[in-house]
Amino acid sequence: MIVTHKYKLNPSESQEQKMRDWISMLSSHYNYCLRDRIEAYEEVKAPRLGEYCDLRTRDSRTPLTCSISKNSNLGEPFKNNGKKRNAYEQQSSELPSLKKSHPWYKTIHSTVLQQNLRRLDKAFQNFFDGRGYPKFKKRHQFKSFTYPPNQVKVEGNKIYLPSIGWMRMHLSRPLRERFEMRSVTIRQKADGFYVAIQLEDKTIPQTLPIDLAQVKTVLGVDCGARPHKLLALSNGENIANPQYEKKLAKRKTLRQRRCSRKKRGSNNQRQAFKELARLDQKIVNQREDYQWKVAHKLNRIADVIVMEDLNIQGMIRKCKPKQDEKGHYLKNGQSAKKALNRLIRDCSWSELKDKIRYCAEKFGRIFLEVNPKYSSQTCSHCGFKDKKNRHKESFLCLNCGTPADADTNASITLAKRGVEKLGISLDTLLGVTQECDPF
Ligand SMILES: [Zn+2]
Repeated sequence: MIVTHKYKLNPSESQEQKMRDWISMLSSHYNYCLRDRIEAYEEVKAPRLGEYCDLRTRDSRTPLTCSISKNSNLGEPFKNNGKKRNAYEQQSSELPSLKKSHPWYKTIHSTVLQQNLRRLDKAFQNFFDGRGYPKFKKRHQFKSFTYPPNQVKVEGNKIYLPSIGWMRMHLSRPLRERFEMRSVTIRQKADGFYVAIQLEDKTIPQTLPIDLAQVKTVLGVDCGARPHKLLALSNGENIANPQYEKKLAKRKTLRQRRCSRKKRGSNNQRQAFKELARLDQKIVNQREDYQWKVAHKLNRIADVIVMEDLNIQGMIRKCKPKQDEKGHYLKNGQSAKKALNRLIRDCSWSELKDKIRYCAEKFGRIFLEVNPKYSSQTCSHCGFKDKKNRHKESFLCLNCGTPADADTNASITLAKRGVEKLGISLDTLLGVTQECDPF
């Protein structure tokens, strides 16, 4: 079984400075190598090799001088034995000359530099698998570095990071016994440095998803944008919405104002920005903690969890502008939607969903996503679909007369759709009212 443990680090002042320097150097290195790979990629896409124009030098290249590589222009394209290097290996072969021309890169542990290239390679691999094109990273987007396995040592509450040294960490939970340490990532946050240690315990096998024949309980989960309700469950329970962002909104506005009133670029302003970042961190921490608790709770209740396939980006999209014949802008309801958008963002459902999925995999449950279309208008009892069934938060079926809470009804409909998708018999599985301890 693979698990990740996170701890807060307690570095000395010089160690902290060193880690900050590393991250800043690694981010430029990442962007430099990304540029190289983008160029190489565009080069292959160029219609005819003779017409390719190097963006940096503005030289046109003939087929004869054009690089043989399809992956990277840096480094040696071939190994000593004549075999072709892949993009990562090619860029990696450039590292010695990088250290010669920019000697300050020597301070970074060599395996960390290589892991940085791996990270870039992973980004391109994701792109080739159909995800987004790799982007350049600004300094505030690049906050971590990674050690490969077998580099970092841990003894008690002390951790040894190669080239940085021994430091204490807050051992908030014990490290598992009989584990093998995999990669170790150091991440900078607003309130300090953290370490994430990936551990593999070979004595515990990875849990397999539950057999379909053994499924006893199915839980439908409906995400409703309401101030008091984060989720509605098909067993009639509701999960409260603590709205952490809203609770601290006033304080956040004050801190933002404090930032904007300080002199630009001054130390005072930097201090104010730090305080603002710490507040943001606090909101994120509170929300994450709550979401993990919700995810564990749901996984304790049922064997199968069914959620809707939400399009959050579409939900928080701005309303289309309305214009009259003369071209004047009319009210389009955006100002009314603003509060709703804020509420939706504060829920951060997609992150919650990721956590629920992660827990389901860990505990051997089944996690499903189904199409939520008309789930709030369809009667969960007889399946009759009509817009008039629903009156705000209450639901009354016009066909069979079943009254229900609108969100609970929607979640039962989702659960039924999930059961259909799995292809198992449903009657006994629904209406779960299993007791479970609150958090
Ligand atoms: Zn009905």
